[in-house]
Amino acid sequence: MRMYDLIMKKRNGEILNREEIEYMITEYTADRIPDYQMSAMMMAIYFQGMNAQETVALTMAMANSGDMMDLGDIKGTKVDKHSTGGVGDKTSIALTPMVAACGVKIAKMSGRGLGHTGGTIDKLESFEGFSTGITAEHFVRQVNEIGVSIMGQTADIAPADKKLYALRDVTATVDNMSLIASSIMSKKLASGADAIVLDVKTGSGAFMKQEEDSFALAREMVTLGNMAGRKTIAVVSDMDQPLGCAVGNALEVEEAISTLRGEGPEDFTELCMTLGSYMLIAGGVASDEEDARKRLHEVIEDGSALKKLADFVQAQGGNAKAVYDTSLLPKASVVEEIVSPQSGYVSKIDCDEIGICSLILGGGRETKDSKIDLSVGLVLHKKVGDQVKTGESLATIYANEHEKAESARERFLNAYHFSKEPVRSAGLIKGIVRESR
Ligand code: URA
Repeated sequence: MRMYDLIMKKRNGEILNREEIEYMITEYTADRIPDYQMSAMMMAIYFQGMNAQETVALTMAMANSGDMMDLGDIKGTKVDKHSTGGVGDKTSIALTPMVAACGVKIAKMSGRGLGHTGGTIDKLESFEGFSTGITAEHFVRQVNEIGVSIMGQTADIAPADKKLYALRDVTATVDNMSLIASSIMSKKLASGADAIVLDVKTGSGAFMKQEEDSFALAREMVTLGNMAGRKTIAVVSDMDQPLGCAVGNALEVEEAISTLRGEGPEDFTELCMTLGSYMLIAGGVASDEEDARKRLHEVIEDGSALKKLADFVQAQGGNAKAVYDTSLLPKASVVEEIVSPQSGYVSKIDCDEIGICSLILGGGRETKDSKIDLSVGLVLHKKVGDQVKTGESLATIYANEHEKAESARERFLNAYHFSKEPVRSAGLIKGIVRESR
């Protein structure tokens, strides 16, 4: 087989068979196919697309390109959760202890973030001493003992995707449905859970800006998961404005903690309830959504979800006292209000721009080697549909340098749009995708 022939085949709109896709992925992972040939292939796929069989073959080839995590030593159904990401998305930090407190086993691998704010791992490092660099043995033991662990994705999980994603990132070939679906699902399948609940974002702060594209991506991933024998369901949720109020690592952790106390923002709490319900059903501890929601409310009310977060933080070396005393989380030295320049109703928030404000403050990574300032970010006080008066605070900025706070303020104000007429905010949950095509 020759890569040249495969590139030409795809360029001409033909279908690649399983052997051809396996060859291409195995050889590329072993550095026997150069980046320039794989770039040409990615561009050919970008324009010609892939059918369902090709997407399945690519996903399985990438999942099999490294270690397949064996979670067989963990008793019970292991449920994983994945979000396609967005601004203020701190869901895993509140959701995983909630679900674990209800008795579902959570063995999750997460990544660091590139862009806006950190990923789940960066956020969890707001707990002093917390480590996701644990061994597979520690991971399995911890899930058996306390029901939840989050470890950093190792280089041995889907190494083909790691290499390909980096290549796609610099060759303008990220935003292809089949490539995104196979990239995400190859890592999820290799991570070993029995069931996967996906949170596919849609809107100005998401990968997929159009709702129909988000549903198409959700369908593609649900199909891949189910075909690989994992119970998979996707929730399509709004990312046209930041999720919750906090944007920035330690600030998001603090908001996740308030949510576990039952005092979180309405939208964020609702998302946790929705995703949590499907996780409980997939994990076999709830019979339906109503039963699941009742259980999730109970673990918030009796404090066991918050305690589960403390146990989880402690088991991974973090300072669990910060769960009960958030003054122990990293704190910024400059705290300033951003006041509204006008009266009216918030009609639109450019979601990506709010993420960039956090990046400007130092809360995200410009390159994969940048160091994150965990303490900085923003807390929004007004969201779409809210009424505001001139001079009223729209948000609080948390910074460590005045100049950065000023740049973020300017950008923030340009991201907010107002209307004289009342505005209704779009619904948070756009739909659920359960069916394979
Ligand atoms: N996240 C991934 O892991 N892969 C993609 O291709 C896009 C988002």
